[in-house]
Amino acid sequence: MRTTVGIIGAGPAGLLLARLLHNAGIDSVVLESRDRSYVEHRQRAGILEQGTVDVLREAGAAERMDREGLRHDGIELRFDRQRHRVDFPGLTGGRSVTVYAQTEVCKDLIALQFKEGGPLLFEAEALAVEGAGSDRPRIRFRHEGREDVLECEYVVGCDGFWGVAREAFPESLSRVFERTYPYAWLGILADVAPSHDELVYARHDRGFALLSMRSPSVSRLYLQVPADTDAEDWTDEAIWDELERRLETDDDWRLARGPITQKSVTPMRSYVHEPMRHGRLFLAGDAAHIVPPTGAKGLNLAVGDVVTFARALLHERDTGSPELLDAYSATCLRRIWQAERFSYDMTSMLHPGPGDSPFDARLQLARLGRIASSRAAETDLAEAYTGFPLDA
Ligand SMILES: Cc1cc2nc3c(=O)[nH]c(=O)nc-3n(C[C@H](O)[C@H](O)[C@H](O)COP(=O)(O)OP(=O)(O)OC[C@H]3O[C@@H](n4cnc5c(N)ncnc54)[C@H](O)[C@@H]3O)c2cc1C
Repeated sequence: MRTTVGIIGAGPAGLLLARLLHNAGIDSVVLESRDRSYVEHRQRAGILEQGTVDVLREAGAAERMDREGLRHDGIELRFDRQRHRVDFPGLTGGRSVTVYAQTEVCKDLIALQFKEGGPLLFEAEALAVEGAGSDRPRIRFRHEGREDVLECEYVVGCDGFWGVAREAFPESLSRVFERTYPYAWLGILADVAPSHDELVYARHDRGFALLSMRSPSVSRLYLQVPADTDAEDWTDEAIWDELERRLETDDDWRLARGPITQKSVTPMRSYVHEPMRHGRLFLAGDAAHIVPPTGAKGLNLAVGDVVTFARALLHERDTGSPELLDAYSATCLRRIWQAERFSYDMTSMLHPGPGDSPFDARLQLARLGRIASSRAAETDLAEAYTGFPLDA
């Protein structure tokens, strides 16, 4: 098999890249190790930045999102039993975010790919990228019990944190910047209307809690738990009781309970692999970087990377100049580090750590109090939450 761009992974990064290339008349093949149903039902991100929404529209992949996505003009911060709303459009000159689940983004892109795009092979596991430093990189992969080779002009590793593309970087080139956190998120999906119409980020001495949603009838909620937590150790009743404690306020706000349909534990990690390019191999999305989910940035960064790659490739095709491809890693990393910084700030402001002192707790409250009382501090949060421009 031969193609111009070999894409490993059919998460949001790989699927959107295939779509962008198809629209520009560049052929690609996507290899995905899992089956279609798994990819379409893996519960993950749900907040799309304004820029991500704009990209999906331009790519012709936003018809259902525009119908079913929920535009959100703010978030609420809760601390000391008080509520503070951050008004995004008022602080950012009109920007907002959209609640539309990653599962739905993937379903829409997969449907488009099968309707009019190039080959997308499920249950096709990339085993290795070979010849990344040469003119003709190859992906060795296994599909339907057979090993095969995909010859490419470019390979883009969109294969997530546990993928194989990163392994093709020589050790002498790779630099890793990493932080792990001593806590995780216990996330639930529940068949109950969200108890608030915007996301609620709550800091409590017992730990962080987040009230989010997937649709007008499905709630998504999270609790900070110790890093080694097993989701099955938590009964449904214990989860609701703890959410209620951490989210409660001095006014008459109440948390509505409903049947829990899914629960899982997400580890918290900050990770950046530099550079994001080696020869004709490029990394995009979680394959190159991870943020803790507190800032809702992971999926949005993945989108930024593939847009940057697609633009650079078109620039080379149209002008013959590789300057944007050469700048790919540096261009992406500027935005990525801003998102890493924001995600770290949100995480450390809202999560009491196991070894924290009363002094640390007071500092967290002071940071939240600053946002609630200073327009400059609040604007900083709103700008970062609604998204950094691609050329940040
Ligand atoms: C619980 C949770 C909540 C989150 N919330 C948010 C949020 O609100 N907002 C936000 O922006 N982000 C959020 N994120 C992060 C977001 O989900 C990820 O950043 C996003 O999925 C990255 O997309 P990707 O395409 O780079 O990687 P992935 O989605 O991980 O896709 C990689 C794909 O590659 C495939 N693959 C792996 N290895 C191989 C191989 N060898 N061969 C072939 N295929 C392979 C995988 O099966 C997978 O389908 C959240 C993540 C989690 C876990």
